[in-house]
Amino acid sequence: MLESEKQLKQLANWVAESSRIVFFGGAGVSTESGIPDFRSEDGLYRQHFRYPPEVMLSHEFFMEHPEEFFQFYREKMVAPQIEPNDAHRILARWEEEGRLSAVITQNIDGLHQKAGSRKVWELHGSVYRNHCMECGKSWPLEKVLETDGVPRCTCGGIIKPDVVLYGEGLEESVLQRSVQALERADLLIIGGTSLAVYPAAGLIQYYGGQRLVLINRSSTPMDRYADLRFSGKIGEVLRTEEEIRCHR
Ligand code: NAD
Repeated sequence: MLESEKQLKQLANWVAESSRIVFFGGAGVSTESGIPDFRSEDGLYRQHFRYPPEVMLSHEFFMEHPEEFFQFYREKMVAPQIEPNDAHRILARWEEEGRLSAVITQNIDGLHQKAGSRKVWELHGSVYRNHCMECGKSWPLEKVLETDGVPRCTCGGIIKPDVVLYGEGLEESVLQRSVQALERADLLIIGGTSLAVYPAAGLIQYYGGQRLVLINRSSTPMDRYADLRFSGKIGEVLRTEEEIRCHR
């Protein structure tokens, strides 16, 4: 078995007893779907580019080098053909069953919604939403993908993805809904995130419950506060938990 059976049984008990689970996740939730994260061994930060990814994904770089931004963005940040994995599917099932009140994600890939989740608070926006910087018109992802170079609106303005770049602020309404969900949660599961990106990672301080579960392949600054800690792949951990819970 991939993690200690005792721990997995404990997780299954907590999931069964909870009705307001909040899942707080990051890029590691989508690696099992084939999207690289930033900080793993094979993450984007270990690959070689002309500029470091954190520079290319900054507001300043977007404004000064939009062609290079869109080249990197289309190649590395957008993958509409990719499908959700077990982690996305199980979290969607928990919402359907009335166990989960929100998924708070730092991801921009839309995979939670593709799996069926509805209460998804996207702290860093989504590749599926885009707007003209001049007239504000909304554009679908296809418009960004089907153009070469910098995508332009009919008014001539640059179309900017609604993703939060380094140096940009988070949307107030998303922050508020996330804080509210965390304050009311009866189980917090943090998974697939290095908890290195702020202010997103700071939100978990609003959790008001007693049970904290961490599922991450590498260590995080929250490890010592976790009541249960798994270092396996999140899709596998949640799948095993579900098997235990559903077969008793
Ligand atoms: P990160 O790359 O900093 O950390 C990912 C963490 O997930 C690592 O600690 C890694 O050990 C762990 N991990 C990887 N695969 C895992 C798995 N299968 N199971 C369990 N753990 C796994 O990512 P982050 O904390 O989300 O922060 C970086 C930023 O990256 C976020 O702001 C996010 O917007 C952006 N990002 C998003 C995507 C996406 O939308 N899919 C992809 C890359 C980066």
